[in-house]
Amino acid sequence: MSDKSSIEQASLLNSDELAQTVSDPAVRIEELRREIEHNSYLYYAKDAPAISDAAFDSLVHELRALEEAHPEFYDPNSPTQRVGGYVGEQFSAIQHERRMYSLDDAMDEGELDAWLDRVEEAFGGMVDVVCELKIDGSSIALTYQGGNLVRGATRGDGTTGEDVTANIRTVKDLPLRLRTESESGLVDTQRVIEVRGEVYMPKSSFETLNRAAEANGKQPFANPRNAAAGSLRQKDPTVTAHRDLSTFLYAIADESALAFGTQWELLQWLGEAGFHVNPDVQLCATREEVHAFCQKAVERRDSLPYEIDGVVVKVNSFARQREMGYTARAPRWAIAFKFPPEEKTTLLRDITVQVGRTGKLTPVAELDPVRVAGSTVARATLHNEDEVKRKDVRIGDTVIVRKAGDVIPEILGAVESLRPENAQPWSMPKTCPSCASPVIREEGEADYRCISIDCPAQALERLLHWASRAAMDIDGMGEEIVTRLVESGRLSDAADYYTLDEVELSLLDMGRVNKEGQPIRLGQTVAKKLVAAIDESRGRAFARVLFGLGMRHVGKTTAEALAAVYPSMEDLMGASEEDLAAVEGIGAKIAHSIFLFLRTPDNQAVIDRLRARGVNLADEPSEEQEALPQTLEGKTFVLTGTLVQSGMTRDEAGAALKARGAKVSSSVSKKTSFVVAGEQAGSKYDKALALGVPVLDESDLLRIIETGELPSE
Ligand code: AMP
Repeated sequence: MSDKSSIEQASLLNSDELAQTVSDPAVRIEELRREIEHNSYLYYAKDAPAISDAAFDSLVHELRALEEAHPEFYDPNSPTQRVGGYVGEQFSAIQHERRMYSLDDAMDEGELDAWLDRVEEAFGGMVDVVCELKIDGSSIALTYQGGNLVRGATRGDGTTGEDVTANIRTVKDLPLRLRTESESGLVDTQRVIEVRGEVYMPKSSFETLNRAAEANGKQPFANPRNAAAGSLRQKDPTVTAHRDLSTFLYAIADESALAFGTQWELLQWLGEAGFHVNPDVQLCATREEVHAFCQKAVERRDSLPYEIDGVVVKVNSFARQREMGYTARAPRWAIAFKFPPEEKTTLLRDITVQVGRTGKLTPVAELDPVRVAGSTVARATLHNEDEVKRKDVRIGDTVIVRKAGDVIPEILGAVESLRPENAQPWSMPKTCPSCASPVIREEGEADYRCISIDCPAQALERLLHWASRAAMDIDGMGEEIVTRLVESGRLSDAADYYTLDEVELSLLDMGRVNKEGQPIRLGQTVAKKLVAAIDESRGRAFARVLFGLGMRHVGKTTAEALAAVYPSMEDLMGASEEDLAAVEGIGAKIAHSIFLFLRTPDNQAVIDRLRARGVNLADEPSEEQEALPQTLEGKTFVLTGTLVQSGMTRDEAGAALKARGAKVSSSVSKKTSFVVAGEQAGSKYDKALALGVPVLDESDLLRIIETGELPSE
C-alpha cells in the first residue's frame, strides 16, 4: 500500500492532470483499484479508515476518469462499478450447488440444553462450539472464481435462489475480490468457492428509509429484514446502491475448499479475505459459557445498531459437523436460540373499527406507541368482538402488548388494577363506521360484516389490494393517493386504474396546502411514474389478477393453484362449481365463493372492462415454448462441471433445454434421463455412472439444444 502522504498528495491533482502524468494507464488503473479496495476494506470491514473520506473520494474520482478514458480496461469488478449504473433484467433462478439450509430453533434454555445434550451424546462429552449473533437480514450466497466475485444469489427456497449479482455488487462492504492474504487458507486458489452470510440494513438507515417512503406516499417496510430483502431484489441496481446495506459473512458452502477445519478459523479467515465478520462471536468450551453468551445477547439486543433475533450455536469442528449431518431442513450441528417474546405495557387510547375489502369489521387497538421486540407498535388487531370481550380490554386501560420476533403484535389483556373507574366494556357498533349501513353477524360466524355494495371503505380496501405488491404491484399507488382518487370519484373499481392519465393525475389535489396556501397537487414526476407503473401492471401473471380481484377466501396460494389449472379467465369462467372444488387445495367453500364471484354481474362488468383496457387475463405460453417443438418433454437433465466450449453458464444451458420441454434437476437419481458433464465434473458424474444414467458431453448438449434431437442409444 502506498503511504498516506502520497495519497493525500495525489488528491491535490485534478483527474485530467493525473490521467496525463500516468505513463501506463493499465498499471495505474490496477494500482488504484487495489488501493481503493484496500481502503474500503479498512473502512467497512475493519471500521478503521486509514485515509480521509476526501482522499478516498479523490482516488475513486481518478480511477473513474481513467476508466472513462480507457474503456478497454473495463472490469465489472472495479470498485467504480459499485454504484450500479444500468438497469438489470428481472432475476433468473439459480440452482444452489449445495443446499442453503434453515436452522432449527430453541425457543428457551430448556430446548438449547436439549440440543447440547444431543451434541454431548454424539461425542461422548461437551465439544467446542461457536456462538454467533443471529443477524436478522436476508441470506446471501456469493460465488468467487479465481478470487473474483462472479455471482450473488438469494437463499430462495434453499434449493433455488435468485440471481442478484448486479445488486450485490453495489453493497459497499463486500469485497469484489478476495484479499491475497487469505490465499494460504485455501486448498486451491483457482477453485470456485461460495461464501454465505447475511445482508442487513442498520436500524438507523431503516428508519430513514421508511420516513422517506412515508413522505412520498409509499408503503413503508415492516422491519429492517424486509427492507434488506426488498432492497436486494430491486430491478434497478442503482436503487440498491442507494440503500444502506451491509453484510456479515459466516459460512462457506463447501468447507473442503479450506486448508483448516473449524468454524472459528473460518471466521478469522473470512476477515482476512476482506469480508465483514461480526465481532460478537465466542468460542465456548462449556455449557455455562454458551448460556452466558445467550443471556448477554438478550441484554445487548436493543443497543446494537442492527437487528438480531437470536444466537446461533455451531459445533466448531467441520469433521464433527459432518458426523452430525443434516435433517431435511436444517443442520443437526447448529441451533438457533431464539429470544424470548417481549412484553410491554402501554395505554389503549381507543378501539377503532376497520372495514376490510370483503366488508368484515375488525376492532383495532389504538395504542400509545411502544417499542416491542425491534419495532414500534401503535396498533394491534383485536380480531373480533368476542375476542375483545374475552380479554376484557376497555378504552383507557393499560394493556400488555406482546411480540415475538417478526410475529404480529398481540394484546394479551389489561392490567385491571390500573383501569379507570368509568371504563366501559366494549361492543361492536351497530352501523358501519364508513357508510353507516347496519352491520350483521351471521349465525355461527365470529365476524360482523357491512354488506352494503356501495361502502367506500370496502372499495378503498379492494383498490389498495389490487395495487399491492403481492397482487398487481402498481409501484407508488399508496393509501394516500388511492384515498384521494376515491374521494374525487375517479376510482371505484380496479378497471378505473387503467383509465387514469398523466395530466389528470398530476393535478390531483392532495387535500393539503403549501406555505403560500396553494393546494398541493400530486405533480408531474409522480404522475408519470404512476402511469408507467399502471401500464406495467397490465402484463402481470394471471394468478396475480385472480388474487388482486379479492374474491373471498382466495389468497395468493389459492390464486396460483387456480391459474395453474385454469390459465385464462375464459377457462375459469367455463368451470363448474364441482370442477373448481376438484382443484388441489380448493374445497367446497372456496369453490362456492369463486363461482359466486364470477357469476355476479357487477364483477363480470369489472372483468370485461379490465379486458377492454388491456389487462392480461390469460397466461400466454412463453415465446420459446411457442416457437420450439417440445421434443424433450418427459426427459430430465442434470448439468455438472463447467461448459467451456460454448461459454454458456449452466443456467443458460438449462434454460435452453427447458425451452424444448425438458426438466432440469440439480441432483442425480434413477429418474434422471441424462447427465451432462462439463469440465471438472464432480460427484454427480460419479453418481451417474453408479446408477447407470447415460452421460453426455458438451458437444452432445450443444447438438441437443440446436436440433432438439436426442442422441441415438
Ligand atoms: P431461519 O430462516 O429462521 O430458519 O434461520 C436460518 C437463517 O438464519 C439462515 O438462513 C441465515 O440466513 C440466518 N442467520 C443469521 N445469522 C446467522 C449466523 N450467524 N449463522 C447462521 N445463520 C445465520
